[in-house]
Amino acid sequence: MNLVFLGLPGSGKGTQANLLAKEYDIVSISTGDLLRNEIKNQTKIGLEAKKKIDNGDLVDDVVVIEILKNKIISQSCKNGFILDGFPRNINQAIKLDEMLKENNKKLTKVYNFVIDEDIIVKRILGRFSCNKCGAIYNKYYKNTTIDGVCDNCGSKEFDKRLDDNEITIKKRIEIFNQSNFKIVEFYSKNNLIVSVDALKLVPLIFEDIKSSINNNLN
Ligand code: AMP
Repeated sequence: MNLVFLGLPGSGKGTQANLLAKEYDIVSISTGDLLRNEIKNQTKIGLEAKKKIDNGDLVDDVVVIEILKNKIISQSCKNGFILDGFPRNINQAIKLDEMLKENNKKLTKVYNFVIDEDIIVKRILGRFSCNKCGAIYNKYYKNTTIDGVCDNCGSKEFDKRLDDNEITIKKRIEIFNQSNFKIVEFYSKNNLIVSVDALKLVPLIFEDIKSSINNNLN
């Protein structure tokens, strides 16, 4: 089962991708996380990507496609994957199709997370994650149960993304709005698109997507 999650930054794709990957024993692949990992490891790719990410711009297609390719064909994806944050433009969607074809794989469904932009800004500004296990929290909507302690792994160290600031958010939303409708159109032709009401609570969205997946499996 190979899924794509489309949606504005902060629309909850990452949270759902992690929950559903666990549920179906598949891998959640966030190109943003892969790039942040390159930055952490101070690789050449990471150093180049950092400027773009900090500015709210997209990283070059060739770079993102290269790191994604290695991941998709790896053994860890044998049961399937959820792509979170890829494709971000039509060229990436076309390249993804080619990559999958070459490896005898195809997409099962594409979930499009729909949500109002005003809510997104507050969500992104409140967002932080556990330094150790990557669990995502939000100081406005979903804080840790015990203040300063990760619910998932107990760590007391948290990260806030540098690109989660008001100026960058506006740019990221603008870039998304320029390309997402074309990507949705692209996948609509193959009847792959499913709309997700991303305003609902996390467990309800989880159930919505699960029932869609299960319908598809039956
Ligand atoms: P995200 O974690 O998905 O919000 O991505 C954070 C940043 O990483 C984006 O603002 C881009 O700079 C970069 N990025 C992530 N995915 C892609 C992609 N598919 N293509 C280009 N840049 C990306």
